[in-house]
Amino acid sequence: MSNNPFETSQASLHAAAEIGKINPDAVRYLEQPKRIFQFTIPMKMDNGELRFFEAYRVHFNDALGQVKNGLRFVPDLDLDIVKALGLWMTIKHAVAGIPAGGGKGGVKVDPRTLSEGEYERLCRAYIRKLPMKGAWVDVPGADIGTSGKTMAWMLDELEEIKQFHQPAAINDKPVAANGTQLSMEATGTGVFFVTREAVKDMGIPGDAKIVIQGFGNVGRTAALLFHEAGFKVVAIGDIKNAIHNENGIDVPALVAHVAKTGYVEGFAGTVGLSNTDLLELPCDILVPAAVQSVLNAGNADRIKAKLIMEAANGPTTPEAEEILQAKGIKIVPDVLTNCGSAIVCSFERTQGLTDDYWSADKVKAKLEERIVEAYKATKAASEQHDTSMRNGAWINALTKLQNSMKARGWI
Ligand code: NAD
Repeated sequence: MSNNPFETSQASLHAAAEIGKINPDAVRYLEQPKRIFQFTIPMKMDNGELRFFEAYRVHFNDALGQVKNGLRFVPDLDLDIVKALGLWMTIKHAVAGIPAGGGKGGVKVDPRTLSEGEYERLCRAYIRKLPMKGAWVDVPGADIGTSGKTMAWMLDELEEIKQFHQPAAINDKPVAANGTQLSMEATGTGVFFVTREAVKDMGIPGDAKIVIQGFGNVGRTAALLFHEAGFKVVAIGDIKNAIHNENGIDVPALVAHVAKTGYVEGFAGTVGLSNTDLLELPCDILVPAAVQSVLNAGNADRIKAKLIMEAANGPTTPEAEEILQAKGIKIVPDVLTNCGSAIVCSFERTQGLTDDYWSADKVKAKLEERIVEAYKATKAASEQHDTSMRNGAWINALTKLQNSMKARGWI
């Protein structure tokens, strides 16, 4: 039994490759990253203390284009997580039909322990030390512990290094720094669009009960859209604990509560519960939108949802997936459910390269079109191969990767 995210990602790769009869040499390219950069960032803290931060960047695969996305600043970062996220990013771009490869990286740090000045210096140092960067090589974006603010610092530093303007070299920037509309809402909005399609297909009623783990960028955006569309968000959790109201939580009011207090706990009209109990609540739709491996062999048999929408990366271990499938619970996989930001990041790069910046309505409409198309293609592949949605998504992605590798003479 393993909760190792890289093993989880490899299990998905091999399962889909076998069912989809993918060329074994194409699969071998995806068993390890093309490049791993691991470096140390020395930094003088505000109090004069010298600290060393572990940093990573993985270019997992670039058969489909320049590598893109995801810098995670968290205290428990390690190479296996970064590698897993790099493979998922590779697959996600292929699932969404984006001409880009998969990259991931970050720094082992809890940003909440840094002053604003330390945070900025760390971000700038990360970009200075990153060996390969630019719109046609590696385009970092935000993930847990990074945001529009950090990406704007990184863009500024990169442009100072290169001595020319290159907005397409960094993703998830604020609009004020040549970013795109909908950047921070892209993943949560995509989660909403895909859930709406899955719910229609499964005949789940429009006022379905939803449980969400994670009330950050992704969980909060999705929760607001679910609430607005008439779904009943009955429970929400964050890193501290969770809250529950069987009649539905007033999500906009909760957003204001969290802005004031930092956490969901103590929100009026709800009862508190642990993050463990949150996942096991009876509901129609469970949306893990926090961290990896939260649905594992230890709790899978107690999950009562009908549908799991994987908003987080790798929230379900392979052991858990087997148990959940046997219980008839449908899983819409991470590489599809949360590919909204991958899609909007590719729009952001296009806007940066052309200096033609789009309206929020245009970005949202194009995101909806692209992600619904990816959902339909995934469903078609899963039906064609009589397999899970995860395998369907991976088979479609692996087929595109294999075809590119073949055309380029890699295999
Ligand atoms: P975030 O940092 O904005 O929010 C994370 C949320 O999860 C917070 O509410 C936090 O309190 C909670 N959380 C953190 N650790 C937890 C734990 N151990 N148990 C329970 N709750 C915990 O992050 P985000 O951007 O919303 O990303 C959430 C997930 O979605 C991650 O898995 C991320 O990789 C994935 N994802 C994010 C994006 C994006 O665009 N932000 C894109 C694709 C995938």
